[in-house]
Amino acid sequence: MKKSCPECGDKFQGRRDKVFCSAACRSTYNNRLNSDANNFVRNINNLLRKNRRILASLNPDGKTKVHKTKLLDAGFKFQYFTNQYITQGGKVYNFCYDQGYLELDKGYYALVYRKEYVA
Ligand SMILES: [Zn+2]
Repeated sequence: MKKSCPECGDKFQGRRDKVFCSAACRSTYNNRLNSDANNFVRNINNLLRKNRRILASLNPDGKTKVHKTKLLDAGFKFQYFTNQYITQGGKVYNFCYDQGYLELDKGYYALVYRKEYVA
């Protein structure tokens, strides 16, 4: 049975479990997959660090209140955070590392800072 190599597209004959036409194609293919995964992780790490920087710069004293537009203007991405802290009263703080935020009324957010790591 002829197969086609997923890297170069060449047709080749081979054992049933053989996927690539050559070791070179196999390693090119796998290297690319790995680097895509690494890029994905790196981009998200950068977003998280940027979010943290934005929160830290808007919250130099460790506690403040800002409007959502200030965060968005700075490029803050609300969907990226590292962990959550839910109070007994059910309030949900999202954290980007040590910098956290809590949604308030009318588009305002409370910004907080946490020294200790909370899992
Ligand atoms: Zn090939």
